[in-house]
Amino acid sequence: IATKTNGIEKSVWVELIQLALEVKPLNLGQGFPDFAAPDTVRKALAEACSSDTNVLLNQYTRGFGHPRLVNALSKLYSKLIGREINPLNEVLVTAGAYEALFVTIMGLVNKGDEVIIIEPFFDCYMPQVKLAGGTPVFVPLCPKKTEGVTSSGDWVLDPTELGNAFTDKTKAIIVNTPNNPLGKVYKREELMMIADLCKKHNSIAIMDEVYEWMTYTGQEHVRMATLPGMWERTISIGSAGKTFSVTGWKIGWAYGPANLMKGLQVVHQHSVYTCTTPVQEAVGQGFEIEIQRYGTPDCYFQSLPAELEVKRNNIVKILTEAGLNPIVPEGGYFILADVRNISKRCIILIDIGGDSNERKDFRFVKWLSRNRKLQGIPPSAFYSPEHGDIGENYIRFCFIKEDENLEKAGEILRTLK
Ligand code: PMP
Ligand code: GLN
Repeated sequence: IATKTNGIEKSVWVELIQLALEVKPLNLGQGFPDFAAPDTVRKALAEACSSDTNVLLNQYTRGFGHPRLVNALSKLYSKLIGREINPLNEVLVTAGAYEALFVTIMGLVNKGDEVIIIEPFFDCYMPQVKLAGGTPVFVPLCPKKTEGVTSSGDWVLDPTELGNAFTDKTKAIIVNTPNNPLGKVYKREELMMIADLCKKHNSIAIMDEVYEWMTYTGQEHVRMATLPGMWERTISIGSAGKTFSVTGWKIGWAYGPANLMKGLQVVHQHSVYTCTTPVQEAVGQGFEIEIQRYGTPDCYFQSLPAELEVKRNNIVKILTEAGLNPIVPEGGYFILADVRNISKRCIILIDIGGDSNERKDFRFVKWLSRNRKLQGIPPSAFYSPEHGDIGENYIRFCFIKEDENLEKAGEILRTLK
């Protein structure tokens, strides 16, 4: 097989989703809701497929995005960004945010370019940069507070370290806010600091904003593209899977200035070419409805985070009672918990098995899944090999789950205490 695949063979998802299929644990691993998506988009999809008047909705649509969807995206983001976004050349619809990330990186990064990745990061950034021939440069978020109750907001960048990571080869920096797996929501000042470095070094900001609607009380999702001088150098990425709780639909998008979007379009037109029509139609209709309801409690962009905040508070309580030390997330639907108290005991008292060359968090997660039927995700997967030891102390749980399932996870974890 091609040498470009060397060294990027492993994927935490391939491994752990297979384990979940075998073991059938209570699954707080991969991020997806275990409850119904809103009626609006589900009905719209059923209608799009079964319409006798508009049978072409089951055929190919425009390659860079179905007109109804790109128009809705343009309308929404023009309002949020405060400038007219052209639906034809400043928006691209992709097969999930995954493909949006891939075409952004493949379409903008040259061989030898450096791309800064902030740790912990959504795992696919590193292999995608490598496939493009780029060099990933890692800068970790570090906790400024470790005692007592800590929040994802306590994890910050060291401005000097970040400044030193920028060189004349830095093509881009990838920022994920709200962050997966930490739940950090970048403050305006933090984004301004990154923006200043991008402008100084003529670099692009690749903004993974798939959890843009999921921020909790006191937090505001700030879009990099709204900061002075940043529209010109920012690609923003979103996901219908996250926005409408339909992760299986795999529709995402990227928007940004036409000169940069050109690179993304070229990669997309020669790989995926066009995404599923009826799903784009349904997501387009979903956006039209939410644009109408925008700013009211009925708007899904408001009701979903309200529902999730209650779950966030519950899981913090459940994990704390079970003797884990959670980092309270400010956004997103994942939580990291320090498992040193319990995993050390499990590793000492129980033969946790597994490959002793493997990282502790991978061994613990697999043991928990097989022997206690509860699945989480090992956070070292979100670190470069050099910094994996930071992630090893934690487990990631997904909390966009029915309350009773969060309770059941608590019951299982309490037995390890
Ligand atoms: N970025 C982040 C931070 C994610 O958590 C996910 C979830 N898989 C993605 C991108 C990819 O999203 P999608 O499912 O739309 O491809
Ligand atoms: N974003 C989700 C997670 O982090 C799903 C990952 C995936 O589909 N590979 O769990």
